[in-house]
Formats: sequence, C-alpha cells, structure tokens
Amino acid sequence: MNRPVHVIVGAGQAGANAAAELRRQGFSGRVLLVGDEPHAPYERPPLSKDVLLRPQDTRCAVHPEGFYEEQGIELKLGVSALALDPQARVLRLADGQDIAYDKLLLATGARARRLPLLDALGANVHTLRTLEDARRLGAELRPGRRIALVGAGVIGLELASSAVELGARVTVVEPTRAAMGRCAPPLLSGFLCDAHRRRGVNFLFGAGIEDARREDGDIVLELQDGARILADAVIYGIGVEPDIALAQGAGLDLDGGVVVDAACRTSDPHIYAAGDVAVRRGQARRETWENAQKQGIAAARAMLGLALDAEGAPWFWTDQCGYNVQCVGDMAAPRWIVRGDLAAPPFVLFGLDGEGALAGAITVNLGREMRSARELVDRRARLALDVLQDPGQALRALARAVGEPQPA
Ligand code: FAD
Ligand code: ADP
Repeated sequence: MNRPVHVIVGAGQAGANAAAELRRQGFSGRVLLVGDEPHAPYERPPLSKDVLLRPQDTRCAVHPEGFYEEQGIELKLGVSALALDPQARVLRLADGQDIAYDKLLLATGARARRLPLLDALGANVHTLRTLEDARRLGAELRPGRRIALVGAGVIGLELASSAVELGARVTVVEPTRAAMGRCAPPLLSGFLCDAHRRRGVNFLFGAGIEDARREDGDIVLELQDGARILADAVIYGIGVEPDIALAQGAGLDLDGGVVVDAACRTSDPHIYAAGDVAVRRGQARRETWENAQKQGIAAARAMLGLALDAEGAPWFWTDQCGYNVQCVGDMAAPRWIVRGDLAAPPFVLFGLDGEGALAGAITVNLGREMRSARELVDRRARLALDVLQDPGQALRALARAVGEPQPA
C-alpha cells in the first residue's frame, strides 16, 4: 500500500509547526514541507528586534538544525508552489514537479503591502517581512541617518525603537490619529508614543503622503499639508496581505484570507489552512506568532482526525523602548483601567466589555503576571474595579478564586 502524503505549502511558523506535529502524533506517511524562501523555517519576530540590534548573536530557526532530517520531514526550499488542483489533488511546483497529496495545508502566510509611490524611489526604500529584508534594512540603521518610517503599526514602532537604539534619527508618518490602531487600545498607544518621543522620535499623525522624490541626494516625502520630510532612507510598514494566490486558483472560500473553521478546515475537505493566511469566518484575520503556532498544530491534528485543544483568548507581544508588552483578549474592549501607574512601569491594563466582564489584559514589563491575567480573561471574570486596580491583590489568587473558564 502507498504511504499517505501530507503536503504543507509555506515553510514558516505555521508550516514548520504543523510538520513537527504530524510526526509528534505518530503520522508515518510522507511529510513534504515546501517553501519559496531559501532558508529552513525561521521566526519573524526577531527581524525587527534582535536581528537588527544583535545580528551576530541572534538565531531565529523554528527547529534546530538536523530536526527535519531526524523527523523524516522532506524540506523543499527555494521552490514556489504554483498551482493547486483540488479535484486531482495535485500541487504543481515551480521546478516542474507535480505532487499528489492526500491532505494539504496552506501555510503561505502574508507579504508586506506595497506602496508603489515609495517603491519607485528605488534604493534606500524598505519593507520588512523576510530575513533578507532585515539584513538590507539593518545596513541603513547607522548613527545619524535620517529615517522616515511610514506607518505607525506594530512593525513601524518596533523599527522606530531599534533604529533609535542604533543611533538613527526617526520621523514616523502615520495617516490616522493613533499608533498601533489595529491592535492596541488608546491607553497603550499613548503610553508607547510618549516613550518613543522621550527617545527623540518625531511623530506626524494625520499625515498623508502626497508625493515622494529624490532631490540632491535626499529622499523627500511631501505631505498633504505641504510639510516636507528629508530622509536618507524610508522604511514602510503599512500592513500585510495574505498570500491567497493558490487558494484563489483552487476556488476555495475566501474572505480577506482563506476561510477556515476551528479545525483549520477550508471549503475543500482535503485542504487546510493555518497562520497569517487563514481567517475564521466572522472574525478578523490574526497576524501573530501564537496564532501561527497554534493553528499549525491544530491543522496537523485535524489532518490526522485528532481532537483539538481548547482555544484560549488570542495573545501577542511586542518589544519597544525597553518595554515588553504582552496583550491577551480583545484589544478593542470599550473600557480600559490601569493597575499600577502609567508613569512608572511595570503595570497592567485591564479591558472591560459593555457588561463589566474582563475582555482583555495587557502587561507592560510584567510578563510573569500574563498567565494569571490570561486565565481571568479566558474566564470573563467580573471583579470589583478596586480589586482589579489594586497591585496588592495577587492576580494568581484572583484567577484561582474565579474558577473554571466560561464558555465563549
Ligand atoms: P509566514 O511566517 O509568512 O510563512 C509563510 C511562508 O510561506 C513564507 O516563507 C512564504 O515565503 C512562503 N510561501 C508563500 N507562498 C508560497 C508558495 N506559493 N510556495 C511556497 N512557499 C510560499 N508576532 C507576534 O506575535 N509578536 C511579535 O513580536 C511579532 N513580530 C514580528 C516582526 C516582524 C518583522 C514580522 C514580519 C512579523 C512579526 N510577528 C509578530 C508576526 C508573526 O511573525 C507572523 O504572524 C508569523 O510569522 C506568521 O506565520 P505564518 O507561518 O502564517 O506565515
Ligand atoms: P504592520 O503589522 O505592518 O505594523 P499594522 O496593520 O499594525 O501593520 O499597521 C499598519 C499601519 O500603517 C497603520 O497604522 C495604518 O494606519 C498605516 N497605513 C496603512 N496604509 C497606509 C498608507 N497607504 N500610507 C501610510 N500609512 C498607512
């Protein structure tokens, strides 16, 4: 009898974890992990942080060297998957091979959204998604260099932090009125902007770019209000676009990503999707390390017909200006309260929903409290405000007291 073949497209966080989980669960068929980058799967979070700050000491491989061979996982790197035929259950690769599969996982992630106006400037214009991007961009971040950072999202702010640490002078240009608007409540956003300003970052909010050109060796960004920014380099981080090309060609259901259920099943019974490329119907697409990790594992289990672990509230972190910020739950909760003092970190922020139940939590330089905060959020705890706000009341004891998680 032929061994079953499970193919994973996309050798990133989700794909690498799915491959490992297939083996961990005892799958003895062929596991083929196809990636278009030349590297074995690596983690992206260090790209905006330690890869820039401490390039010599930073390792970002998802699994140690030798892992794939030991596990009998076939890595096919530097090769794009070009097309997917769901009827024939065949994946076509750019090297001409056609791979017949039993189950296939799309873990193709996302790519940096492009701004043609800036790309047209050529050299000294960067986005950040890959290791190569990070290496190129790192060469720009030298003492005294004037860096225009377009987009005050998570990546923009992390880059602002690293650039300042490397001695560059940073101006952030953001069309909306807030930083990290997609994923942070105003309290956190304001706190982080203040921290960046104290380190010399100049923020221009409500600033749309009208034109971009080169003048006498400078890059000139002209804003809609007529202001001009002169820079040696421009880095932009204006969000990502999920890599849905294969899914689209295969006719899978799409809704701002490849639509999946809790078990990462797509609209085709033999195809699964996980990580940045996937979206749960009715929810926003998640672009976080934890989501890629957990969905990769969940997809592998579902491919083997195994039960899934309970899902907790979503979590992510960011490191900026010497602050480790960890966020769990709903960052769009309507009301936020502070436990501690915003002017004297560490502190915790709690987000409450319309009924006063705990919907989200943020720790700033207090990662050791995240586990308890997370339990409280998973349980939608309802606690008196003075109790939540009092750093003297241990979160661990509060989490223990509120009991078992409530169904969502
Ligand atoms: P990816 O990591 O994008 O992997 C997908 C892979 O598939 C890529 O290698 C891609 O080239 C490949 N691929 C695509 N199409 C094809 C094809 N047709 N054929 C073959 N291969 C293909 N998250 C956090 O929670 N905290 C952080 O601090 C944080 N920092 C970040 C910093 C940076 C600079 C970046 C870029 C991301 C950061 N993230 C962070 C987000 C996190 O890294 C991503 O959510 C995660 O990498 C998503 O994993 P993935 O496997 O879904 O996709
Ligand atoms: P990333 O993960 O790349 O940081 P986010 O979605 O967190 O992505 O943030 C992207 C930021 O870029 C947002 O603050 C958004 O307002 C900004 N932005 C989006 N489109 C543009 C654009 N065309 N020009 C400038 N900034 C933009």
